Amino acid sequence: MPRKNGFTQPINCEQICGLLTGLFLILIYCIIILPILRNPWQIVNSVIYSILVIGTLAFTGIAAYIDPTDYQTSYNSIKYCTICNRNVSNDSKHCGQCNRCVASFDHHCSWINNCVGKCNYRYFILTVIFLEGFMLFQFCNSIYIINTQAQHPEELRKIFQKELVYAMMALSALFSGIFCLSNGALICFHGYLNVKRLTTYEFIIERRKRSSKISSGDDIKKYYEPYVEASKSESFELVRAPNLLESNNKSS
Ligand SMILES: [Zn+2]
Ligand SMILES: [Zn+2]
Repeated sequence: MPRKNGFTQPINCEQICGLLTGLFLILIYCIIILPILRNPWQIVNSVIYSILVIGTLAFTGIAAYIDPTDYQTSYNSIKYCTICNRNVSNDSKHCGQCNRCVASFDHHCSWINNCVGKCNYRYFILTVIFLEGFMLFQFCNSIYIINTQAQHPEELRKIFQKELVYAMMALSALFSGIFCLSNGALICFHGYLNVKRLTTYEFIIERRKRSSKISSGDDIKKYYEPYVEASKSESFELVRAPNLLESNNKSS
């Protein structure tokens, strides 16, 4: 059965890890960082933080919820998918993990447990931009609190134990720093792809083509894509039919 969207069971491990890390960072912010800040910076800080968190969650949800399946039924298409058994757009790619064709396929994202293609690419980009802001802001806040703690320890000890604040801020800075760097690299990569007018899939195929012994572009496509020309799809069906009957007879 093809997957419909990122909420189709089974839920991915990366999805759960991402959600738990996000919740952990938000909890640290609400319980430790926010009470330590002083007004009016506390209000400004919490407003910026809320916009970044809500934006990240909303766009992640939208990118995961959208079904990017290529439901193209036009007979003008020259591509026929031998797995989906129907005509698909000329820029479609069959995702092996979701078992469906996706128009303008970019890549399969494990964090949203969904393919990224024509229908949800813009929401995916908005997700990574808001996530970058969220992680950067969390990282800066954590470093600020560590600094403040070092300069005015007696003041903060009244609110929380010094060791607890240090430990939580170190964890917060570590997680948000790692996400900030890796996600920043992803944003730069997609900026590069936009300039080159390539999808992630096309970029990977180009690289494999260069490193592979297969030099012809046609050979590469035959190797990675389960397609035939739409005009030949009828004869393909006729070839498949006897095999299916044969397997049914054997099992009965
Ligand atoms: Zn397909
Ligand atoms: Zn997929």
